[in-house]
Amino acid sequence: MNEEYSKVDLFVGDSPIEFLPNLSKHLGPKIYVKRDDIGGRAGGGNKLRKYERIIGDALEQKCDTLIIAGHYQSNASRALVGAACQLGLKSIVVCKELIPKQNESFNQNGNALLMSLMDAEIVGIKQEDDYQEEMNKIAEKVRNSGGTPYIIPFGGSNLLGSLGYFDCANEIIEQCKSNNIKPDYIFVATGSGGTQSGLVAGFQLKSFNTKVIGVSVLHNKEAGTEIVDSLTKEILAAKEYKSTNKAEVIVDDNFVGAGYGIPTKKGIDAIKLLAKTEALFLCPVYTSKAMSGLISYIEKGDIKNSDTVLFIHTSGMPLVHTYFDKYE
Ligand SMILES: *Cc1c(COP(=O)(O)O)cnc(C)c1O
Repeated sequence: MNEEYSKVDLFVGDSPIEFLPNLSKHLGPKIYVKRDDIGGRAGGGNKLRKYERIIGDALEQKCDTLIIAGHYQSNASRALVGAACQLGLKSIVVCKELIPKQNESFNQNGNALLMSLMDAEIVGIKQEDDYQEEMNKIAEKVRNSGGTPYIIPFGGSNLLGSLGYFDCANEIIEQCKSNNIKPDYIFVATGSGGTQSGLVAGFQLKSFNTKVIGVSVLHNKEAGTEIVDSLTKEILAAKEYKSTNKAEVIVDDNFVGAGYGIPTKKGIDAIKLLAKTEALFLCPVYTSKAMSGLISYIEKGDIKNSDTVLFIHTSGMPLVHTYFDKYE
């Protein structure tokens, strides 16, 4: 097994698992949070775990310019620009307006603001332009001016990226063992799928008995399940998993609402609830939708008061600000 792909350190240390007493009291089940919102630079978040091997690969290939398809409020873009700054690399964000403008400052505030503070090179493209074609053109330009480009996969969700969450699964297993936590359910926001895939593969390999619920923020159930399922298989194959037991992939698309980046009423309620009970901030695009899924499962009785839940906080803090006028 090719265990050691090259890696850079971006996500600093293990993130803690914390019990949420006030939220648990309010909702019923025992709820814990995995604090993946606090590890590393540039605002942190799940993308840092994914970039460790992706950028490791870029460095292995002697690349000096990272190119990513993004949008003005992309956590993936902001985290990539941060990683590039930190490692002394160049980055270019190929930007579309992927989310319909939510307010006047939408393309300047939040992640856009942080990217601009980091002096990011942002190349705006038209709605109808193709990301891949535009990235290829920019890569060509970089080559022509003597640089070596590396194109980051969508959402950092290829095998190399997802292995960051395979590692995280092992981290969770160890932490749960030493703190005697037995999560019946794990909730995570699912977009490009790498986070969920890594977790599912990691738990499968160690026969860790829990149900991972990926709450989709982007794809419908069929597409989301297909993406997570095939990536999970790819990771397990890379880890030479031999068992014929199939990993269970659950992607729930009932909480996406009107679409990616468009807040839902239940998500906004979840943001306020977590803020006032636990001083934790969820974002309108990802984590609030995942939390609204968890709340709904509890309300419907699918998750019982005797159950234990671990919520993966994947961050997205800058988005709390971007949607400042959506909390009424
Ligand atoms: C990107 C992102 C996700 C989704 O992770 P995927 O691996 O793309 O499914 C969840 N939460 C936050 C805050 C993110 O930025």
